[in-house]
Amino acid sequence: MALRYRRILLKLSGEALMGEGSYGIDRVTLDGMAAQVARTAALGVQIGIVIGGGNIFRGVSAGAAGMDRAQADYMGMLATVINALALQDALRRSGVDCRVQSALTIEQVAEPYIRGKALRYLEEGKVVIFAAGTGNPFFTTDTAAALRGAEMAADIVLKATKVDGVYSADPKKDPHANRYRTLTFDEAIGRNLGVMDATAFALCREQKLPVCVFSIFKPGALERVVRGEDEGTLVTV
Ligand code: UDP
Repeated sequence: MALRYRRILLKLSGEALMGEGSYGIDRVTLDGMAAQVARTAALGVQIGIVIGGGNIFRGVSAGAAGMDRAQADYMGMLATVINALALQDALRRSGVDCRVQSALTIEQVAEPYIRGKALRYLEEGKVVIFAAGTGNPFFTTDTAAALRGAEMAADIVLKATKVDGVYSADPKKDPHANRYRTLTFDEAIGRNLGVMDATAFALCREQKLPVCVFSIFKPGALERVVRGEDEGTLVTV
């Protein structure tokens, strides 16, 4: 079946790596994600990945608890580097050629982020993991996903969550909650749906970069999204 998207920017939250745990990285969960990415790459899709760090450290909450916010955010960015290295390892074990580029320079463990080089890797069919978010405090990895997505001229940003899309209400609490198949950016803002953080959302909207929210825990969902099948919620201009 034909591909709808040839180049994607996949945002994986750090929390998705915890599996059933409450902290850190669950190896089985990580391997499951890597397998989905490997199958999608095998379809010929070019894949950039931004990974979060919330399973290890979240700057906002540490800041709220009295820590210097910028300092806490740098810790959060380093947490994303740990996740990026773990994901790279899992992808390699799944047979995927994969590079990590970091927005903070940590030469011994990852290449620095260089846009042209990242584009070349994508064209060569290598998966590129963008670590350390945007490299700036006061931002999130959602914003890093929007930024790298725009820089890589990705066809779409795919936001992987635990829920298989954006719902009219919390599907766990309200049996009548409906999944939106499609939304416009304006509808998502008007209905206060909180698809991603406001900075990230504004950037995608301005760049006319579609966003799809889908579940990374639903087997085969990532492949269905790139084939343009009914999966998750697609947000467009
Ligand atoms: N962070 C940051 N700048 C960025 C990206 C991330 O300061 O550009 C920090 C911030 O403290 C954030 C943490 O890294 O809380 C982890 O990222 P995020 O919360 O987005 O991860 P996720 O929720 O996806 O696991």
